[in-house]
Amino acid sequence: MVNATVKKEKGRRPRKRVCSFCVDKVETIDYKDTQKLRKFITERGKILPRRISGNCAKHQRQVTTAIKRARCIALLPFIIE
Ligand SMILES: [Zn+2]
Repeated sequence: MVNATVKKEKGRRPRKRVCSFCVDKVETIDYKDTQKLRKFITERGKILPRRISGNCAKHQRQVTTAIKRARCIALLPFIIE
């Protein structure tokens, strides 16, 4: 039996590191889905690093390719000024 004891951390927020794409069981990330992709770029238009986005390696790579593709066809900006 697994003892489910949850440690309560005060002050610091325990961040759950779950890849949002794995949760949704996303197999391929659509580069046309800019609404989703926008969550993985900074307000200046840069791609969020994995440590911040919390994605797994597989999905982070897909996000990166999708963003780059979306940039190419002007769905996402390269740099927001
Ligand atoms: Zn994932």
